[in-house]
Amino acid sequence: MNISVAIDGPAASGKSTIANIIAHRFNLVYINTGFMYRAVTLMCMRKNIIYTDVKGVCKMTKSLDIRFQKDRILVDGEDITDSIKHPKVSSSVSNYAAISELRKLLVNQQQKMASEYNVIMDGRDISTVVLKDAPLKFFLTASASERARRRCIELNEKNIPAEYDKILDDILKRDYIDSHRAASPLVKSEDAIEIDSSNLSISEVVEIISNYIMKYIEKHNLKSLR
Ligand code: C5P
Repeated sequence: MNISVAIDGPAASGKSTIANIIAHRFNLVYINTGFMYRAVTLMCMRKNIIYTDVKGVCKMTKSLDIRFQKDRILVDGEDITDSIKHPKVSSSVSNYAAISELRKLLVNQQQKMASEYNVIMDGRDISTVVLKDAPLKFFLTASASERARRRCIELNEKNIPAEYDKILDDILKRDYIDSHRAASPLVKSEDAIEIDSSNLSISEVVEIISNYIMKYIEKHNLKSLR
């Protein structure tokens, strides 16, 4: 029996940091679906395929070999994990991610991964579309100002220049596009547990989620995960 953990939430709400730690703790495969949309965006930008060229975007996407290696993403063998975090990709990705044809292609790949492994998957539509039947669903939020503050620190640590006002502006724009688009908008699934991390540390959020997973593991006697 496969176990799936879904984490959704707005930009920079801490999903990937938390999901990474939980993946290690419970021996789950971590699938960062934002990386997949970012990967397609980067590859399209490199080939000057703009998001209004839906056919071009889909053709490019079908040609890509996207793989995860722990918390890294490889496309056609190239590790593009650092490049996809660049603010230029961040400010364009939501326009590509609003293309419903592209979403179908990536959702298929994500569902295939979840059928093969025990996964923790994060994104915007995991609880509502990709893993609708996941037994463990979380919706992670934080105030926009706190999310911008955290993203600035993260980028500065990677020596990527980041101005707070620009980052906040980008986060608000992405939140708006992601939650107002027609195709799989960001909404909290009714059955997801909401966690506002504005005033919580990473380890506090990890403990909250871990407790739910532990209870599920115990209830279903899934000892092999621990
Ligand atoms: O999670 P992250 O902020 O890296 O995601 C980048 C962008 O990818 C989001 O702003 C959103 O537009 C898109 N995305 C999505 N659906 C997902 C994951 C990400 O639309 N499941």
